[in-house]
Amino acid sequence: MSAPDTAATLRDAVVSGARSAEEVCREALDRLERLDPALHAFNTVTAERALAGARDLDRRRAASPRALDSLPLAGVPVAVKDNLCTRGVRTTASSRILEHYVPPYDATIVTRLEGAGALIVGKTNCDEFAMGSSNENSAFGPVHNPWDRTRTPGGSSGGSAAAVAAGITPVAIGSDTGGSIRQPAALCGITGLKPSYGRVSRYGLIAFASSLDQIGPFARTAADAARLLDVMAGEDPRDATTAALPAPALQGALTGDVRGMRIGVPRRLLDQGLDPEVREAFLAALDVLRGRGTTLVDVELPRARYAIPVYYLVATAEASSNLARYDGVRYGFRAPGTSDTDLRTMYCRTRDLGFGPEVKRRIILGTYVLSAGYYDAYYLKAQQVRTLIRQDYDDAFTRTDVVALPTSPVPAFRLGERVDDPLQMYLNDVFTVSANLTGLPAISVPCGFTRGRLPIGLQLTGPGFDEAAILRVADAYERETGWWKEVPE
Ligand code: GLN
Repeated sequence: MSAPDTAATLRDAVVSGARSAEEVCREALDRLERLDPALHAFNTVTAERALAGARDLDRRRAASPRALDSLPLAGVPVAVKDNLCTRGVRTTASSRILEHYVPPYDATIVTRLEGAGALIVGKTNCDEFAMGSSNENSAFGPVHNPWDRTRTPGGSSGGSAAAVAAGITPVAIGSDTGGSIRQPAALCGITGLKPSYGRVSRYGLIAFASSLDQIGPFARTAADAARLLDVMAGEDPRDATTAALPAPALQGALTGDVRGMRIGVPRRLLDQGLDPEVREAFLAALDVLRGRGTTLVDVELPRARYAIPVYYLVATAEASSNLARYDGVRYGFRAPGTSDTDLRTMYCRTRDLGFGPEVKRRIILGTYVLSAGYYDAYYLKAQQVRTLIRQDYDDAFTRTDVVALPTSPVPAFRLGERVDDPLQMYLNDVFTVSANLTGLPAISVPCGFTRGRLPIGLQLTGPGFDEAAILRVADAYERETGWWKEVPE
């Protein structure tokens, strides 16, 4: 099988008239129908919305041949994680409590993508409220990894990653609070980018941990990721955390030339829990980068080893607060038979039935660390260490342009293997959560396979708002290696 189309080639074909948007859209929907029963990557298919958009593009082009020239995503099928609001289309966050929730508005990124000509073919399965690293916390059952269906695609944006890896759509959208774009990208052999905090509007994202959440693209190539991010990025009056910065124009940054760039390697972090084949692939990737004219620099991130405890304190604290709004009153689901009980009983039964075990665990943990008497010892302390981790990265970036690490310490593990051990599950996030705690941009690119043919990811973290740096290195690396062209059978 040849490498599947990129968003860039599909868009150019539609803009030039070589292919109609409707034909491109139907092909994606056919693949979805054929492949998804075995993958379970989608919660909802939005065929009508996508086809209506496609026909509209074709009509506009028929009326005026240059009408689509200004649309960077004309006719590009895209899958959107089911924690992003879509007007009139069920948006569940893979939770029972939102199973029938139909938002009255679109997330800003949905508006922007469709405005650029993208066709949303469906809403992807994920861990419930984006809490998890394996997709097994979805109330609707897990996604299966296209490389080995007995294994996890990673999480929480596993459905988006699987959709792209399987070639259903060339690109997809996910959210990343502690690695949920980068880790599934790594485990599925594709590219995934978490932008800087403030780069992309979260208006319409179902909040998990508001000081960590970012929305970002999945793609086959760094160039496609840049194309999507160029569309998604920018200030939004509806999200006060978005930065007032000019459009990044990232596609122009992908020159292929990385000579003289410095790649920081925190070798001490490679000690704990790293799978030997992942280590081997990571070190080989560093050699490739050196071969392209970069310099490898040793960096210390002394406080990064506290990232997991800090993340699981901050993220749970914020989640316990964000999820307080699901109370049986405002969003539809209410436990049956509780409408004439007292209010407290209604709340309790609704939340007991509506939330899954991992979400409950986090609400309890987060409520605990915020409660009087424990706040100073846990939450406040975590925020202080978070600042120190950011200082470590700031120090590193005085001597280096990007920091390289493996994305995940292990390749895709088997479904069911880790569900009974939450701590083991949390440790998967050891290399990814720092970028969220610090707000820095980070990307995962495919960097090889295990002998059992499971994909491995290389993670590059950049200085704040320097997505251009990580994309340039990622793109140069992809041009050299071609791992991104590999597809599952
Ligand atoms: N695995 C992490 C968690 O469970 C990350 C989740 C995310 O990025 N949404 O919290």
